[in-house]
Amino acid sequence: VAVKRGDGWAGVYNHCDSYPTWLGRELWKHLRGTDLKLFAEELLRYDDWRNYLAGGVCPYCGGRGLSQPHSIRGEIDERIPPDYGRNSQYSNARFKSKKEMREYYRSFPRWFGREDEIESMIEEEWRMRQNIRKTGYADPECKYHKHDPLVPARITSEDPDPLFIEWVYVVDPEQRTIDILAHRSDGKTDGPMKGCPVLRDDGYWDYGHCAYRHARVAKVSTDGEEPDWRLIEDIASADTARANLHGKTTERDAGALAEALKGNQFVLTNCIVCGKEVLAEYEPAVHERCRLETIRKLGGDADAWKG
Ligand SMILES: [Zn+2]
Ligand SMILES: [Zn+2]
Repeated sequence: VAVKRGDGWAGVYNHCDSYPTWLGRELWKHLRGTDLKLFAEELLRYDDWRNYLAGGVCPYCGGRGLSQPHSIRGEIDERIPPDYGRNSQYSNARFKSKKEMREYYRSFPRWFGREDEIESMIEEEWRMRQNIRKTGYADPECKYHKHDPLVPARITSEDPDPLFIEWVYVVDPEQRTIDILAHRSDGKTDGPMKGCPVLRDDGYWDYGHCAYRHARVAKVSTDGEEPDWRLIEDIASADTARANLHGKTTERDAGALAEALKGNQFVLTNCIVCGKEVLAEYEPAVHERCRLETIRKLGGDADAWKG
């Protein structure tokens, strides 16, 4: 999640579910009707979208102004407010007494003869409960998770890492829009891996064994009607149709052709834009022409998606 800065952007990282149908929708709803200048100022004080959402308070230790927690051990992974994992059927927080927890683990063959380990697990569990009671947090001393020094807005368009950063949402507080960028490969699949990617003249970052860039798929308004997140997501990730089956072939021919191509792992599917039957390597699939036309309509950078 980023904020427009000059010709580029600066922003924060998000680890999971960053595609439009999740993070795009979440961000859009979050921004609706809010002061985007204030949002931008606030966001850029953080290193991570989750840290921003938590208001900079670590859900495990209660620390403030720290980096996004990492190296989180399973014991505290679920021990976050408000229910501290008590409702999870897997968390040790569900046991009412030490006796109940002890008997539970003793009943499994793989825990036979490991009494000491069971006892130390019980001690750990009760220490965490005491921590929660006393401080409100399961791991106030950071025994089960870590923090680094906080580096605000650490991802920028000058070093965007498009191989690993698959989606970028650039908020423009002036225009009240979000530019949605997706990463795309130039098709390169071999070569020796480089220590760090090098920016080529064509806008791709060359990693040695592959090359990627961010390209705008859509520009959405934070005030208008809710965008079609599924379309935005699919239009960027759909496979390019390899064969047109309409017009020249009958349905039966198409079926037979698909059967014959099974060994090549082609699928018979429909273009997500025009609905016509196509052959592609995976679903969803789209005609090159249909993709460019749709991206243009969505306010994306169709030129960056050519080829
Ligand atoms: Zn913490
Ligand atoms: Zn089509």
